[in-house]
Amino acid sequence: QVVTRFAPSPTGYLHIGSARTALFNWAYARKTGGKMLLRVEDTDRERSTEPAIQAIYDGLSWLGLEWDGDPVLQFGRASRHAEIAEELLASGHAYRCYCSQEELAQMRETARAEGRAPRYNGYWRDRDPSEAPEGVKPVIRIKAPQQGEIVVNDSVQGKVVFQSEHLDDFIILRSDGTPTYMLAVVVDDHDMGVTHIIRGDDHLTNAARQIVIYRAMGWQVPGMAHIPLIHGADGAKLSKRHGALGVKAYREMGYLPEAMRNYLARLGWSHEDDELFSSEQMIEWFDLDGLNKGAARFDFVKLENINGHYIRQSQPDYLYEVMVSTAEEVGRAEDHAGLLANKETVLSALPELQPRAKTVLELIDLAQFIYVERPLTVDAAAQKHLGDDSRSLLADAVDVLKGLNEWSVESIDGSMRTLAEQKGLKLGKIAQPLRAALTGRTVSPGIFEVMVLIGREESLARLSDQTQ
Ligand code: GLU
Repeated sequence: QVVTRFAPSPTGYLHIGSARTALFNWAYARKTGGKMLLRVEDTDRERSTEPAIQAIYDGLSWLGLEWDGDPVLQFGRASRHAEIAEELLASGHAYRCYCSQEELAQMRETARAEGRAPRYNGYWRDRDPSEAPEGVKPVIRIKAPQQGEIVVNDSVQGKVVFQSEHLDDFIILRSDGTPTYMLAVVVDDHDMGVTHIIRGDDHLTNAARQIVIYRAMGWQVPGMAHIPLIHGADGAKLSKRHGALGVKAYREMGYLPEAMRNYLARLGWSHEDDELFSSEQMIEWFDLDGLNKGAARFDFVKLENINGHYIRQSQPDYLYEVMVSTAEEVGRAEDHAGLLANKETVLSALPELQPRAKTVLELIDLAQFIYVERPLTVDAAAQKHLGDDSRSLLADAVDVLKGLNEWSVESIDGSMRTLAEQKGLKLGKIAQPLRAALTGRTVSPGIFEVMVLIGREESLARLSDQTQ
């Protein structure tokens, strides 16, 4: 059975790049009928925080990337890590090193002077521990191979060869008895039964070191897939400007989780020329072979377009719930209240709004005409359609509309067409001031639909506000 894992460090928000890593682990586990485990790598006690752990759970849940079983908190396993360090010591695969900080600094200095990479020189590797100086708390170092090659057989990067001579005897247990990251990852992956490690390619060199520990323990090395990092649209390293934000930020910008899954999947993975696919299709098609070797480029425009597609496709009642929760989440109290108080109207307006919005925030903006309070705030673009000519035209329109027996799209449409003809105007010349007066904007659903949605009384009141 395939077991993947997502192993974020809770030191900030759940980064969008990490979310993509989680997505691939999830897809592979679902594809193979396996499991995706979650391990919170909270060993950096200074930088790990409780809100950051919560952000991981919330972000994954929002994206619909459910993990299997309880999350493993790495720090809680420190004694198990230390136990393995002792085992490696007992089996002769590791040794205690008593070098002082000064000695290590000296070593680095010498290496630098000789033009070598600053590495530990193996001073205590074969030395008799009885020579140990008094009062020095030792660290435990792994006996890394000094010759030959370490090969990472990677599903994305291919066969990656590291020369052993470039890897030194790295520390696995610190002098205070705490494990290093390198040891903790290997022990946890082994104990959790992880069969496939899918993570960013910034961990590729770590993979070689981790293989040293696997070998020393006689454990099987899991399959590995190191995926290229995400770059900005201009090819530079992903920065905030490029979209290097937390998952929460995307939620607050009004992206739908299914759109995020689709877009993130396309960032570094492809299936033929498919751009739009459901998560079910992704799971069906997913394979590690489909992971791209080149860096992916984050493109907000593409994300928006994909999001627009999912907004058009969604059921109104689902979108309504998302609008309500988004308005609440981003602190748009008036919208939140307005949406709640006008559920039915918003639901019936949604099919008209959906084709006009690319994000949930735009959807909320478009729905505002339903619940805005009179007198409306008219935006600058709409204001242009409310000049003196328009005012008298609106006054005429109000007279005509007041006389209608039936308040329906057909009857309003008919009466406004007649008015336009009488005035020798195109219908648009009436529709624009109507839209400006009724919604305060230049973009809205069909203006006669708007009048039906908000009703006769409210429509006439808003129009009269602009004829004064
Ligand atoms: N905690 C590491 C990170 O957030 C990932 C370690 C791993 O996947 O092996 O970069």
